[in-house]
Amino acid sequence: MNSQFIDYVMGLVESRNPGEIEFHQAVKEVAESVNVVVQKHSEYGKLKILERMIEPERQIMFRVPWVDDSGEVQVNRGFRVEFNSAIGPYKGGLRFHPSVYLGIIKFLGFEQIFKNALTTTPIGGGKGGSDFDPKGKSDMEVMRFCQSFMTELQRHIGANTDVPAGDIGVGGREIGYMFGQYKKVKNVFEGVLTGKGLNYGGSLVRTEATGYGLVYFVTRMLQDQNTDWNGKKVVISGSGNVAIYATQKVHELGGKVVALSDSGGYIVDEKGVNLDTIKRIKEVERGRIKEYCDENPGSSFHDNWQGIWTVPCDVALPSATQNELDAKAAQALAKNGCIAVGEGANMPSTPEAVDVFLSENVAFGPAKAANAGGVATSALEMSQNWMGLNWTFEEVDHRLQMIMNAVYDQCVAAADEYGMNGNLVAGANIAGFCKVADAMIAQGV
Ligand code: GLU
Repeated sequence: MNSQFIDYVMGLVESRNPGEIEFHQAVKEVAESVNVVVQKHSEYGKLKILERMIEPERQIMFRVPWVDDSGEVQVNRGFRVEFNSAIGPYKGGLRFHPSVYLGIIKFLGFEQIFKNALTTTPIGGGKGGSDFDPKGKSDMEVMRFCQSFMTELQRHIGANTDVPAGDIGVGGREIGYMFGQYKKVKNVFEGVLTGKGLNYGGSLVRTEATGYGLVYFVTRMLQDQNTDWNGKKVVISGSGNVAIYATQKVHELGGKVVALSDSGGYIVDEKGVNLDTIKRIKEVERGRIKEYCDENPGSSFHDNWQGIWTVPCDVALPSATQNELDAKAAQALAKNGCIAVGEGANMPSTPEAVDVFLSENVAFGPAKAANAGGVATSALEMSQNWMGLNWTFEEVDHRLQMIMNAVYDQCVAAADEYGMNGNLVAGANIAGFCKVADAMIAQGV
């Protein structure tokens, strides 16, 4: 393969964004996939489409001062990267986690462009967040932080401009506090955030959507191997919103989730994890997954979270965070007979791990396709807000299923078109890229 184009793009991205390794990693994967497309269609190269795509349309960084419960002033840094608006208003979550810096937000925002394009809904790509750590903070501290964060962010966003949502560290509580502050400052009630509460403009299924969508996507991968979820042993990393609702859907479809994790370690329960206990510990008590074992005799806790990939399973759904699954873990999964991997988190598998899956013939569903159900349902929330009505659970869930099927079909078709049959990584990147590229070309330089 002619790698000149890839080297050139990587030279650009590395020199303009020094040290932002996660962003470089995300760009490299896309450049490698779309190289064949750019070679075939000269206008993409001539009009410098990928060169334009890797430069965000706008990046905002701001100070977030707030007062903690002891009266001390704290300062965090806030980010919003408005990456690409070729096909719709910027759309993507906010992440509150101490690891957040510009490189993380850019990798997430870049991925979001292609993911959002695959959903078939009209949303552009963006991402934001802060290095604020919600862990151990009181409810009032989280509220004051969210209010301060929105006091600055509000001037950059709007229902037709940029519509943030949740991600790691940002759930219904944080969205509520930020929505309240937006309304106070702007005096408009509009769908400026998604993931809102059901009684103030939220959509049914949005909470469950990423996990459900992931399982719908992997259902298609299993169908292609003439099988289904019945009796499948499943390992899911993480225990947040994605992992919880993926577990629920797997159980509903006849599979058994035997392991879940958090940053402190992982639990194994061969009987199948008791989701009510996990939900109470994680969503109500905001506790640690370790506590699960106190109430469930026969289950075990292991304090190295990466060890979860050594638990034998048929299907693995990495749903914790970026680069959580490396080549060694991928080899362990393949060796133990895993037949399918679907990414619930964003970029959880390292490039080396992806190579192992592809070479070992483990079906692999990349994040920007497999976890697109969350943002797709955000787009459905936006539609309902614009129309001023609420669809039923069944209506939204049906649309989510249709969208996940469409995402899958686009990936398969694009991979086939470029002779990479079955490679969903290439398929997702190519299909997403072409949709955005064609919109960019239509709209001029
Ligand atoms: N944070 C989610 C993602 O990674 C959802 C974003 C949204 O709903 O806007 O796609």
